[in-house]
Formats: sequence, structure tokens, C-alpha cells
Amino acid sequence: MKTTHSNSRRNFMKFVGASSLFAVTPGMAADTTTPHIVVVGGGFSGATCAKYLKMWGGSSVNVTIIEANPTYVSPILSNLVLNGQKTISDLSFTYGDLSSKYGINMIHTTVDSVDKNNQTLALANGSSVKYDKLVLAAGMDFIQVNDYDITKVPHAWKAGEQIDLLKAQIDAMVDGDTFTMTIPPAPYRCPPGPYERACVVADYLKNNKGFNNCKVNVFDANANITIEEETFTAKFAEYGVVYTPSTTVTNVDDSTRTLTYTENDESKTLTSTVLNVIPKQKAASIVFTAGVNTGNWAPINPLSYESVLTSGIYIIGDSQGTGQPKAGHMGNSEAKVCADAILRTLNGVTLYASPKTNSACYSPTSSTEASWITAVFKYDANENKMVIANKGSGAPSTSNYGKMFSWSGNLFTDTFS
Ligand SMILES: Cc1cc2nc3c(=O)[nH]c(=O)nc-3n(C[C@H](O)[C@H](O)[C@H](O)COP(=O)(O)OP(=O)(O)OC[C@H]3O[C@@H](n4cnc5c(N)ncnc54)[C@H](O)[C@@H]3O)c2cc1C
Repeated sequence: MKTTHSNSRRNFMKFVGASSLFAVTPGMAADTTTPHIVVVGGGFSGATCAKYLKMWGGSSVNVTIIEANPTYVSPILSNLVLNGQKTISDLSFTYGDLSSKYGINMIHTTVDSVDKNNQTLALANGSSVKYDKLVLAAGMDFIQVNDYDITKVPHAWKAGEQIDLLKAQIDAMVDGDTFTMTIPPAPYRCPPGPYERACVVADYLKNNKGFNNCKVNVFDANANITIEEETFTAKFAEYGVVYTPSTTVTNVDDSTRTLTYTENDESKTLTSTVLNVIPKQKAASIVFTAGVNTGNWAPINPLSYESVLTSGIYIIGDSQGTGQPKAGHMGNSEAKVCADAILRTLNGVTLYASPKTNSACYSPTSSTEASWITAVFKYDANENKMVIANKGSGAPSTSNYGKMFSWSGNLFTDTFS
């Protein structure tokens, strides 16, 4: 997972004249001259950005992550919790290394609001924090079609409790029961993830539980399988997954687990034993609170990830609206471009003109096989956007299943260690 722009490190230690009224949170060292960069969100994009800011910026910057939870649970590999190959604990990461090895300040609370005029964040714990540069790396949020109870109809698209809930529901199924999932319109977090989940669940019910009469339905808001179409079409046929494209969810009844949807302009209903609705998605709510969104996502300068609406605020990871995939590997890659750009800006150095990013997703299609897809993006100056420079993919195999753990292990280490 290498970001192929200027990663040979310059020394950014020579900041001059940068002003800051550093964090006013009790217990944190106050330093009024060193620029204070606050990162909201300690997931793949935020943790990486903070780590590389300190690795490359050293003592010339103060870096704070404000993260709601003391433990991060990776959505990557979380479909393997559903079939018992992984546990939530296997996918959990804490922030000790980021503090002790890189000197990053950690605050565990939620950021409630952003005062852009005073460059101050209001926190749910009652305190406030001032920033010189603000990085919003807060993931994504959902647009539910109606107000139903997600403990009864879990999305399981943010890892942790939601995944455990869905697993418990699947484990309570008996032969002949129905599992129904819905896929939102693109763009959404992890393009192959829903199709991968349908395969993992179908394989688990059939080959692990020995159920030959369960039905797995997939209702897709998109006109066809959005990615790895050949792979997932073949796997759906093998498992007997019933795939219906171009459908729109119009209502979810959590008490009966009944889905109402339209297909070819006709309204239909379906009641299932387990209903896994993955709602339509948008940037994290703090992006809306900060007012750096246009529509559902945040427009940014691809050379820096700085908002085109408010200078000094950067948006990386799932919330950004560049058209690059909403993926952890991509968030990790964007984070390095952003960290480099912030340090250059603080140091009066021109932004790097040719950034590249890359993305990779491994998709388990059973408890022994996985496929993969990858893409390299490069900056196109004429279009002022990131465009695909190269891409590749691999069909499901046991060899790729093993490589999935090497790839994810590298990503986890580069982000959290
Ligand atoms: C089933 C599944 C499989 C996947 N597989 C892959 C894969 O193979 N490859 C891949 O690259 N990606 C994969 N992904 C996608 C990947 O997990 C996401 O794209 C990635 O987690 C996004 O990173 P992020 O940093 O933008 O957001 P997140 O990882 O969601 O991190 C955001 C953090 O911000 C915190 N936060 C939010 N708001 C606030 C606030 N106001 N104050 C304080 N903290 C806040 C949250 O608590 C969270 O920890 C998969 C996802 C799923 C669901």
C-alpha cells in the first residue's frame, strides 16, 4: 500500500511564524507557537493522516486525533465475522502506538460542531479545541428511507455491534428461512462489499450449516452488479442467490422485517427471516455540520484534499467527493497525499503536482476463496481530477484468500502501528 507520490521524505522541521492557540482541552500540553492539526476520526484515513503528519513533520507540528471510540473496529474483513472466520476482537485496534511512537494526542469523544471563524471545535465532553488545520476523516453516514430500528434490521456496514447483531440473526436461521439484503445506489462504502456479503452468507448457510432450502435475495438499486460483475454473477449462480437489479427501497417495517420496494415502477413487498438493508450513503454528519459538503459529499482539491468551500479544512476517506472508491486502502492513500499537502502548505512549499493514490479490495466469496480488485489513480491536470491510471483484478481462489490476510495485515500495520 504505497502512495507513489513524493514519499521520499523531506524535512519539514523549519516552520516559521505559524500561529496557533493550541488545544484548550484539560490535561493537554498547551503550545502556542507550533501549528496544531486536528484530525476528526481515527479510522483508516484519519489514523494514517495523523501518523504521517508526525512521521514527516516531527516536532514542527502538534497533531491531535479526536475519535469517538477508544477502540476502532475495521469494517474490512468484517463479512468474515458472519461466517465465524473472524471475531470482532480480531478486527479491533487501539491507539496506543499512535500516541507512544509518534506523539499524537488522543481525545476520545465526539466532535459536535465546528466554529470556522474561530477555528474551534465543540466536543461532546464539554470542552473545546482550537485548530490551525482541520482534517475531517469521519467516514460516512446513512440516509434511511424511514425511521426503523437498526437493531432489528441491521445494516452491518459500520463494524462492531452491528456485525454481531447480523451474525446472531443469521445463526438463528433454520433451513428454509430467507435472508434478504439491499444494496444502495453508488457511490457507497466498499463497492464489492455487498456482493461479497451475499456470497459469504449463501456459502455459510449451504456449506457450513448444511441448509439446502434457504433463500438468499439481493435487491440492488444499481442497474447491474457495480464491480467484479463476472465473478459475482458466477458465484450467485453457483449459490442460487436471487439477484434483482434496479430496485428502490421505499419502506422498511422492522417489526415484521418486511421490505417494500419498487421494481419496474411496480410496488412490491417481501417479508424475510433476516433483513439486511444497507441504506443510501452520504458524508459523515460532521462534514454537513461544518458546511463543507455540496450535496451528499465533500468537494475537495485533489492535490491536497482541502475543501474547495473553506480553506484550512481537509476531507479524506469515505466523505470526500472525488469519485475515487470509498475504501480503507484508498483512505490510507489519500491520507498521505493530504499529510504531505498540509506540511507543504505550512512550510510555504508548492503542492506536489502529480499525486497518485491506489485502492485494493479483497472479497471473500466463501470461507476458503477470495477475489481482488485494485486501481491506481493519478491526477489529471486538464480535468482537475483523479482518473484511473491502471487497474487489475483476480478471480476467486484459495491462494487469493491467503493473500487477503497479508494485504489487510499490511494495511492495518501502516494505519495503526
Ligand atoms: C463489509 C466491508 C468490507 C470492506 N472491505 C474493504 C476492502 O477490502 N478494502 C478496502 O479498502 N475497504 C474496504 N471496506 C471499506 C472501508 O472499511 C471504509 O472505506 C473505510 O473504513 C473508510 O475509512 P474512513 O477513515 O473514511 O472512515 P471510518 O473507517 O468509518 O472511520 C471514521 C471514524 O471517525 C469517527 N467519527 C465519526 N464522526 C465523528 C465525530 N463527529 N467525532 C469523533 N469521531 C468521529 C468514527 O467513530 C470512526 O472511527 C469495507 C467495508 C465493509 C463494510
